[in-house]
Amino acid sequence: MNEFELIARYFSRPPRDTGFVAQAGGDDCALLSLGDRQLAVTTDLLVEGRHFLPDVDPAALGHKVLAVNLSDLAAAGATPRCFFLALALPRVEPAWLDAFSAGLYALADTHACVLAGGDTTRAAPVAQGQGPRTVCITAVGEVPAGLAHGRAGARPGDDLWVSGTLGDAALALAHLLGQVELAPAALAQVRPRLERPPPRVALGVALRGLATACIDVSDGLAGDAAHIAARSGVQLEIDTAALPVGAVLGAQPERLRLRCALAGGDDYELLFTAPPQRRAQVQDAARAAGVAVSRMGRIRAGLGVRLLDAAGQPLSAGWRGYDHFDPDPATEATDP
Ligand code: ADP
Ligand code: MG
Repeated sequence: MNEFELIARYFSRPPRDTGFVAQAGGDDCALLSLGDRQLAVTTDLLVEGRHFLPDVDPAALGHKVLAVNLSDLAAAGATPRCFFLALALPRVEPAWLDAFSAGLYALADTHACVLAGGDTTRAAPVAQGQGPRTVCITAVGEVPAGLAHGRAGARPGDDLWVSGTLGDAALALAHLLGQVELAPAALAQVRPRLERPPPRVALGVALRGLATACIDVSDGLAGDAAHIAARSGVQLEIDTAALPVGAVLGAQPERLRLRCALAGGDDYELLFTAPPQRRAQVQDAARAAGVAVSRMGRIRAGLGVRLLDAAGQPLSAGWRGYDHFDPDPATEATDP
C-alpha cells in the first residue's frame, strides 16, 4: 500500500455537504467557506532523518517548514494569513531554537503571516536517547470564494505551465548524499533551492481566475503531474526538452538532468494549466509576480502523464514522484 492508497483507504470519505467544508482532501489545501471568502488550510509534517538531515542549518529549516506550507497556499491561490507550529524536540537547545525561530519568522514576516498558536513536546524516548526532531505547521490563507484553484479543473486543450526552474534542490541533495560531486561554485548556486525554497505565493495569487488547475511541485514533477491528471480525469503531456532548468543542472548529463527535473522533489514551483487564449495574461501575471513561467506541455483527453522527448516521441524510461511508503522510494527511472 503506498502513501496515497493508505489515505484513500483509511482517511477518505464521500464528501458531506456541511456548507462549511467546500473542499476536503485531495487538493493542496482544504477550502472552508465563510460567506464571500474562503479559508485555505494546509498542514505539512517534517521529520528529521526523512525530510531533513540532522545537521541541517536550523535557520534554513525554520524557513523551509513554513515555505512548504506557503507553497500549498500558493497552489490554491490563497493569501497567507496565519500559521500554527507543533514541535517534538529531543532536548532544549537554545542555539538551535534561536536560529530555527529566526528563519521561521523571517519568512513569516515577508508574507505578513502570523504565528497564531501551536504545541510543544519532548520527542518520544528511543533506544539511545530521544527520537528525531519533528516539526509540523498548519497554515491558513484566504481567497475570494470561487477563485481558488485546485487539482481538478484541467481540461483537454489547456496549456501546461510550470514556474521557475526544476531540479536544483534534488541536485544539491544528491551532492550532499555523495551521489554526485559538484564544484563549490555550482553547489553554492543550487543549495539555496534545497534549503530555502521561495514559495510562489505572489504567482499563486496572480493566477486566480486564470489557472484551471494548479499544484505545487513538492514530490517531483512527474508524480505531481499525475495528481492533476487523476483529479481532473485528463492526460498531461510533457515536453521534457522544454522543462526549465538552471545553468548548473543544465550542464549535467541528460539522465541526471531528467532525474532531478522530473522525479527530484523539493522544487516548490507551481505546475498549472490554463486555456491557450490566456497565454498573454499568464505571462503578465508571472511578470507581476516576479517569476518566470514556461509552457512545457498540454492537456489531452485520456489519463495519466505522457513524457515526450525533444523529437516528440515518448520517453523510453518511466519516472515517478516520491512516495513515503514505496518499498523502493526511488527517484530513479523505472522500466516502462
Ligand atoms: P501535499 O504534498 O500538497 O502536502 P499530500 O500529497 O501530502 O499533499 O496529500 C495529498 C492529499 O491527501 C491532501 O489533500 C491531504 O490533505 C490529504 N491527506 C494527507 N494525509 C492525510 C490524512 N492523514 N488524513 C486525511 N487526509 C490526508
Ligand atoms: Mg502541495
